[in-house]
Amino acid sequence: MDILKKIQDKFSGEITEASFEGANIVLYTDNENFFKNGEGRIKQVVDEIKKRVELRADEKILLSQEKTEKKIKEIVPVDAEVTEIIFDVQRSIVIIEAKKPGLVIGKQGSILEEVRQATLWTPQIQRSPAIKSKITESIREVLYANNNYRRRFLNSIGKKIYADWDPSKKEGWIRLVFLGGARQVGRSCILLQTPNSNIMLDCGIDPAVGTGNQDKFPQLDVPEFDMAKLDAVIISHAHLDHIGLLPYLYKMGYKGPVYMTTPSRDLGALLALDFIGVAYKQAEKPLFSSTDIKEMVKHSICLNFNEVTDVTPDVRLTFYNSGHVLGSAMVHLNIGNGAHNLLYTADYKYVKTRLLDPAVTTFPRLESVITESTYGSKNDILPPRAVSEDQIIEAIKKTIERGGKVLIPELGLGRAQESMLVIEDAIKSGRLPNIPVYIDGMIWDINAIHTAYPDFLSTRVRSQIFQDKNPFSSEIFSRVGSPQERKLVFEGGPCVVLATSGMLMGGASVEYLKEFASNEKNSILFVCYQGVGSLGRQIQDGLKSTRMSSDGREETVAINLEVHTIAGFSAHPGRNEILSFFNNLRPKPKRIIVNHGEVSKSMDLASALYKLNRVETNVPRIMESIRLR
Ligand code: ZN
Repeated sequence: MDILKKIQDKFSGEITEASFEGANIVLYTDNENFFKNGEGRIKQVVDEIKKRVELRADEKILLSQEKTEKKIKEIVPVDAEVTEIIFDVQRSIVIIEAKKPGLVIGKQGSILEEVRQATLWTPQIQRSPAIKSKITESIREVLYANNNYRRRFLNSIGKKIYADWDPSKKEGWIRLVFLGGARQVGRSCILLQTPNSNIMLDCGIDPAVGTGNQDKFPQLDVPEFDMAKLDAVIISHAHLDHIGLLPYLYKMGYKGPVYMTTPSRDLGALLALDFIGVAYKQAEKPLFSSTDIKEMVKHSICLNFNEVTDVTPDVRLTFYNSGHVLGSAMVHLNIGNGAHNLLYTADYKYVKTRLLDPAVTTFPRLESVITESTYGSKNDILPPRAVSEDQIIEAIKKTIERGGKVLIPELGLGRAQESMLVIEDAIKSGRLPNIPVYIDGMIWDINAIHTAYPDFLSTRVRSQIFQDKNPFSSEIFSRVGSPQERKLVFEGGPCVVLATSGMLMGGASVEYLKEFASNEKNSILFVCYQGVGSLGRQIQDGLKSTRMSSDGREETVAINLEVHTIAGFSAHPGRNEILSFFNNLRPKPKRIIVNHGEVSKSMDLASALYKLNRVETNVPRIMESIRLR
């Protein structure tokens, strides 16, 4: 069935082009009157075919960019504070970026409609980020470049989805092949196969394994995997153990779509660029280049939470909030027109944090669940968050009172923003004195991406950002961006420093450690997981001195500063959290598959889940497959 032709026939002559944008249908018209008044007839067709259809103006009749800018400035009230007007020329869309998006939209969209009628461009609205982000700007350049590649690419996806489209078909087998992240943490990668589809869920590396070791990458040499047949990649979130190999897939010639949330796209590009930088610093050849990251961005299809989209003729995807990091999603797949529903939780958090709401537990339908098990064993009971927050505040307070400085090594994407919120709140409420808080390394860029997507944050932080009380741009935080600025921190008075890397494996945090370590008035606070063998782990375990190089000379540094470990600050669910997630999960699944955990933790969790839920549980090994239907 050629769905596009069928639609085009309904509007004899009015439509110059009908094309797909992924699973959506877009019609272009060069008839100005039809563009302005054709809404009713479009709605009839939507009701008939039950698919999203959007009408846009053919580029031939669009007002020039220059005149459009002028018109927008006339129509939109000054109070809206328009910061930028971006033209997506390939798709006849104009993006209006403003500090107060509500004022651009107007009552029931009246102002947007006025812009549409006056310019014939289709206006979209975007909130101006409170902090500028270079990465978001260069991603835009890639997406809105003046060429037709992206429009053709999105059209080809739709063609594939609809080529074999038959909503009545419910038969067919479904299987999963575990390519990585099974009985281990790292290199998450699962292949989902049906008679019609080959879909990859996550495409990570194992950051703890050195380059040159094949175990750093998923097992892509299994007979089931054929890149030429891969229809789509779905990424749960931007951590390298879930997205790190994706640019490499494009380098190897993959040209298909990658589905993720918009923040995951931006964060993923940022972390992948940083990954290249780290490789160069260690005098290693990076796995991929910035060109490959660009390819990844060019082929990305971004979805909001709860937005349903067809990915292949027989698989429909919806992302749900997973509460783990900004933009992190649980992946819900409706397979074979409702024959089977699979939830891949990926990494999640099931308590409310300051930054994010807890993971969603209610789904339209559910037969199988794949769950992570990072802290899945009996002993993995995490202390309550309030206790952990008090520990952080107390440790800072004591250190400041005796005239010391506090170092908090942080992961690029993880708890840094959560720590910032805790400290900001403590200073605002008077629990901590008004001390300077310095932010060094990639954290600042990641803050910028957070402020650009308030809709993905907790209700509380979102409303703070909407009310111009953005906690991340609070004046208590200062960015440290150069060695000179760093020197001022070294020479200055009591303060708190948040710096990457999280395990003291290179990066800014090591520079601060070198300065702070010998003075017993100072403190170091570990808020994230410290890998075995890392400098952070050794200090946790009581290391008293270490060799460090400065200005090319090796020297011994005594470690006299006070060491604190905050256990309850993890972005992963503790054992009780996982069990209560399953307790509240609706509907009840018939099968639970456990992955993303050390083997003993995964096994321990699987047996507990079996006892509590009386459903089949599996703990697959890498290369093993499971048939779901
Ligand atoms: Zn993660």
